[in-house]
Amino acid sequence: MIVKSAELETVCGITSKLPDNDLPEIAFAGKSNVGKSSLINGLLNRKSLARTSAQPGKTQTINFYNVNKNLYFVDLPGYGYAKVSVEIRAKWGKMIERYLHGSPQLKKVFLLIDIRHVPSENDCMMYDWIVDNGYEPVIICTKLDKIKRSQVQKNLKLIREKLDLVPGTTMIPFSAQTKQGRDEIWNLIEETLAQ
Ligand code: GDP
Repeated sequence: MIVKSAELETVCGITSKLPDNDLPEIAFAGKSNVGKSSLINGLLNRKSLARTSAQPGKTQTINFYNVNKNLYFVDLPGYGYAKVSVEIRAKWGKMIERYLHGSPQLKKVFLLIDIRHVPSENDCMMYDWIVDNGYEPVIICTKLDKIKRSQVQKNLKLIREKLDLVPGTTMIPFSAQTKQGRDEIWNLIEETLAQ
């Protein structure tokens, strides 16, 4: 897809009403610091439209990016940041669930997992929420450039096993640095829009 325009259109806080969009939505979920902003910027060819920061956990909102006036990228709040209170973490969870549960335009969910690490309990919970809401998430394994090529298959297998992925689930290794995986992700988005 050629990205002609991309802008942050709506920012929803914990208690805000979700927008009544009439364009298809593609959502991105993952724990803080997994590389979600970098992925969104990489897909949109923007340097800093989505925030990338050294302060994980800052995004407590659901952000809707209008892409080409044709679809929305929905940036779900990063979870699992150790320094926030249990109460705030629970609120984020509710917010994410509310979105997953009540979004008729949501066509595809990407769940981001750092390719270097075995998924956390929060990752497993997020995966289960997505599946329980009727979506089959695509797993994007981020920071691909940070491991040796010879490690890739082994790590993908560990992630698959820990999340207990539904057989046939697509996993896409991605690097924001080399952009490896970018075309594959866009192909999937385009296929989804065509359905
Ligand atoms: P977010 O909290 O999930 O939005 O994560 P960010 O996109 O802000 O990324 C967190 C940190 O990881 C930043 O320092 C990024 O530069 C770095 N990062 C993200 N993706 C990659 C990647 O593919 N390769 C490398 N080497 N670093 C990455």
